[in-house]
Amino acid sequence: TLFLDRIDALNPSLNAFITVDRDGALTAARAADARLAAGTAGPLTGIPLAHKDVFCTEGVRTTCASRMLENFVSPYDAHVVSQLKAAGAVMLGKTNMDEYAMGSSNENSHFGAAKNPWDASRVPGGSSGGSAVAVAARLAPMATGTDTGGSVRQPAALTGVTGIKPTYGVVSRYGMIAYASSLDQGGAFGRSAEDCALLLSAMAGFDPRDSTSVERETEDYTRDLGKPLAGLRIGLPKEFFAEGMDDDVRAATEAALDQYRQLGATTVEVSLPNAKLAIPAYYVIAPAEASSNLSRFDGVRYGHRAPEYGDLADMYSKSRAQGFGAEVKRRILVGTYVLSHGYYDAYYLQAQKLRRLIAEDFIAAFKQCDVIAGPTSPTVAWPIGEKSDDPVQMYLQDIYTIAVNLAGLPGLSLPCGTGAGDLPVGLQLIGNYFDEARLLNVAHGFQ
Ligand code: GLN
Repeated sequence: TLFLDRIDALNPSLNAFITVDRDGALTAARAADARLAAGTAGPLTGIPLAHKDVFCTEGVRTTCASRMLENFVSPYDAHVVSQLKAAGAVMLGKTNMDEYAMGSSNENSHFGAAKNPWDASRVPGGSSGGSAVAVAARLAPMATGTDTGGSVRQPAALTGVTGIKPTYGVVSRYGMIAYASSLDQGGAFGRSAEDCALLLSAMAGFDPRDSTSVERETEDYTRDLGKPLAGLRIGLPKEFFAEGMDDDVRAATEAALDQYRQLGATTVEVSLPNAKLAIPAYYVIAPAEASSNLSRFDGVRYGHRAPEYGDLADMYSKSRAQGFGAEVKRRILVGTYVLSHGYYDAYYLQAQKLRRLIAEDFIAAFKQCDVIAGPTSPTVAWPIGEKSDDPVQMYLQDIYTIAVNLAGLPGLSLPCGTGAGDLPVGLQLIGNYFDEARLLNVAHGFQ
């Protein structure tokens, strides 16, 4: 009850949780006790955690922070949820997020913005803002998230916790409400790389119900923790350090790199010449996929249905007009436009070609280094409301994170000091495909 009581005390001001499942948590905790007594416990048995409200949970509502799904109760668990149940983890509740994971500040939530615990007038980042806040404010020791363009790493950076997004395909998307399916990937938040490694080990694994799930042996992501970092080659993309990040973020990033050099790592300049094209490519591909994925919310089978309507088409349009927020509508419009006849070649196809070039840049860079480092976010947490009227400013937040999703690579953010106003700064580490264990050890070595 320690965490449940802390949630009761602090959630009204932080708004990290959309739903708290006290009864379910207590039942799961008792079952965990029995496993501990029987000697069948694993590392996560009895450990409380929170799930981003994008993961379907049987019997507990799953809203995706949307009015559309305000009262939706899934008949089944997401793969990630059932894996963690099987591990004996205790779900405390479902965390706040940007509606359908679209956003970088958690302000696009039907349930209101989550607040940054370091300064409650500031955003926690997004879209997995509630999960990051829950871990940062010690409302939960660990939490799940999803990262389509930075939604685990960026809120981890802005709240001073560790977050990892694995290689695309490592965590099953079954039961994870889809935003942009070719980019969406589940990830883990913890206070440390070690906690993230434990959580990710339980989340990952092949699942035939997700056609993009990678068929590999399950891994113990803690296996490399503690290995010395001497000889590690850290690539620094010159494009990341050229301009764009605030001075305080730069200072904290440089200091972290110095610490790595003291630990015996060497740094080498690498180049990602096409990384600057990641934002335009992403903001074509992601809305295109979203416009298709979100077509299922029609008010017929589940989700919000307008109370009054004329014919069938009117029911669809009123239900969707009422159920979706402004950012979701904007992306459906953009996505429908770029996929429409006559524009497909000009936008979507071009964006797919850029995606290939971006991935090739990374593949070339990893010939010169073991991991790539840079900032996670160009700024520290900003005041709530500052960018919410300006989508382009908001999209630019994703400048350092999005290329990683387009390439399908694993990425991690670890707290590396503070910037202006004593607010947390995150260092981003990017690994080669399936190199999560190394990434986690590189973060662990710093911590
Ligand atoms: N900020 C990005 C967006 O708005 C990324 C979101 C995410 O990773 N889910 O799409």
